[in-house]
Amino acid sequence: MKKRIETEVIHSGYSSDQHHGALAPPIYPTSTFVFPNAETGEQRFAGEQEGYIYSRLGNPTVKMLEERIAVLEGGEKGLAFGSGMAAVSAVLLGLTKTEDHILCSQGVYGCTFGLLQMMEEKYRIHHDLIPMTDPEYIEEHIHPNTKVIFIETPINPTMALVDLEMISQIAAKHKITVVVDNTFSTPYLQRPLEHGCHIVIHSATKYIGGHGDVVAGLVVSDAETINFLASTTQKDIGGIMSPFDAWLLLRGLKTLPIRMDRHCDNAAYINEKLKQHPMVEEVAYPGDPQFRDYMIAEKQMDQPGGLISFKIKGDKKDAQRFINSMKLIKIAVSLGDAETLIQHPATMTHAVVGEESRAKMGITDNMIRISVGLEAKEDIWADLERALELYSNSGMTETETV
Ligand code: PLP
Repeated sequence: MKKRIETEVIHSGYSSDQHHGALAPPIYPTSTFVFPNAETGEQRFAGEQEGYIYSRLGNPTVKMLEERIAVLEGGEKGLAFGSGMAAVSAVLLGLTKTEDHILCSQGVYGCTFGLLQMMEEKYRIHHDLIPMTDPEYIEEHIHPNTKVIFIETPINPTMALVDLEMISQIAAKHKITVVVDNTFSTPYLQRPLEHGCHIVIHSATKYIGGHGDVVAGLVVSDAETINFLASTTQKDIGGIMSPFDAWLLLRGLKTLPIRMDRHCDNAAYINEKLKQHPMVEEVAYPGDPQFRDYMIAEKQMDQPGGLISFKIKGDKKDAQRFINSMKLIKIAVSLGDAETLIQHPATMTHAVVGEESRAKMGITDNMIRISVGLEAKEDIWADLERALELYSNSGMTETETV
């Protein structure tokens, strides 16, 4: 019987009766696996016998995690990587060759943008970054060599959303693979495969780990795609996950639903408070009925997530000054941790993107991104409010800054 996600995050992929009754999964920190004889080795290499060979090709602790994330995303198989970017690069390099084309949402994680540029420069794998809002406009940018549509939704850091069903329908017409970076949402809030997308990627460093102590990536898709990636770009480029990191993620996943509920509650509260503050010019939060893409969030997300971006009245220096006055909230990139984190996309996560592309993506110098943590929401707001008051009393009047 199909169980609910709150149950699957705890139980799927692991059975204690196969591990001496151990409640918590064992860690197998081994590089290689002993064959009972030469023939077994031959059969395993030939793919004629199940069993482990070498940890770059598969490891029991990592496999438990791969099975669990596949169940959560509703896919056939999962694949674990040493970082989110190892996952993104293995997927994009695996699906394309020279002179192919990738259509990408305008506004992606800075290093994904960097990877697309590198693929263009080194391998002539082309890309276009476009707003994924108007179906006709999207179709105009699809060429015979377009192999992949790559999207983030919500988009980092603008929080703009992409309609997954609309993209899947367009892609099906042109037989294009849709890849979704689901890092911001996690399978607890959004499951792109249910909307017809083909591959889901996570920086598991974020909400899936949830405690800021691991860098990791995950991919989920059908068995054929995962077997292909496992035997090509993962095996030969080698960006694998360590068994200990897989164990941390198996542990982190158990509390994903209760953590996400709290992240979302806290974010909704902070969004309301920010909106009312006179020093805040604009707030972007998918759960706000006034947010441009609210209806898309309603359609495809179970809850709107724990990330907010907002623009304060002022410029880059003002944004930095504001961030510098945080006491409880930590100045750090990354997201999805217990601690509330604040960062300045224009000079941090999206510095690599360049000024012109940032402008197209809607990333301004006064934009701030906050990953709302699990602390008491009143304490998070008290820190932000104090910094906003300090900032508004520091000689800068509202009229001067607008
Ligand atoms: N995708 C998104 C949306 C991200 O925010 C990040 C990292 O911040 C990545 C991918 C890359 O993940 P990692 O840092 O685990 O390589």
